Amino acid sequence: LVEARNVRKHFGAHHVLKGIDLEVRRGEVMCLLGPSGSGKSTFLRCINHLEKVDGGRIYVDGELIGYEEHASRKGRAREMKPKQIAAQRRSIGMVFQRFNLFPHLTALGNITEAPIGVAHHSRADARSRGMELLRRVGLTDHAGAYPAHLSGGQQQRVAIARALAMEPKLMLFDEPTSALDPELVGDVLSVMRDLARSGMTMIVVTHEIGFAREVADQVVFMDDGIVVESGAPSRVIDDPRHERTRAFLDSVL
Ligand code: ATP
Ligand code: MG
Repeated sequence: LVEARNVRKHFGAHHVLKGIDLEVRRGEVMCLLGPSGSGKSTFLRCINHLEKVDGGRIYVDGELIGYEEHASRKGRAREMKPKQIAAQRRSIGMVFQRFNLFPHLTALGNITEAPIGVAHHSRADARSRGMELLRRVGLTDHAGAYPAHLSGGQQQRVAIARALAMEPKLMLFDEPTSALDPELVGDVLSVMRDLARSGMTMIVVTHEIGFAREVADQVVFMDDGIVVESGAPSRVIDDPRHERTRAFLDSVL
């Protein structure tokens, strides 16, 4: 479902992604590990074109992300029109480290905002689907609560439900539990585990090695803008081949 080929990105002289190649099949969960600054967030942001790539290509469900499929006459990739980019983004859900819910909307209001405003679903449909999503993330009783009155873990589960409301093909998670108090991490991971079991294709940047070992089909270790190694969790986590992977795992386990 996701195919990245030689993806490159720099900020000024700083090469953040130095040719990333990877593939995620439909229904698969990929966990992306790596030290701070290795380019994990930048790579996720390239997948929904929040960052432009400087080279290489990313396909999601067969569609080239962000650029016209046919290069212009000069051979350079031409960016898509904003409308097309927005349409691609709608099929890709993203959950960030900091729950960025709309503070002036209730939990249910956050979830139904895009289905009503962007996808033009009826209010009634959006609300009944929203309640179903709240049930899935264990927050039926908090439909009317404002973000300020929810714990970080509850807010993050609303953020997941909000992303799911647009029926994405792919979910991207960027350290979804790293801003949470330890006792709230489990509930969020358990929602993610259920989502993985339901067949959602997911790319998860995380330092939760236990989650990666249990849920991931594929673990990718990145450092300094390259994929150092990848494979089944048992391979990469329990039998790392590279010194850098070993050093990283020692630091987080
Ligand atoms: P962390 O684990 O700390 O979240 P990361 O692997 O997600 O790290 P990125 O956020 O992708 O790393 O950043 C990779 C490098 O790119 C860092 O050195 C960062 O300072 C730099 N960088 C990221 N975004 C920008 C930007 N918009 N402008 C300039 N430099 C940036
Ligand atoms: Mg990051």
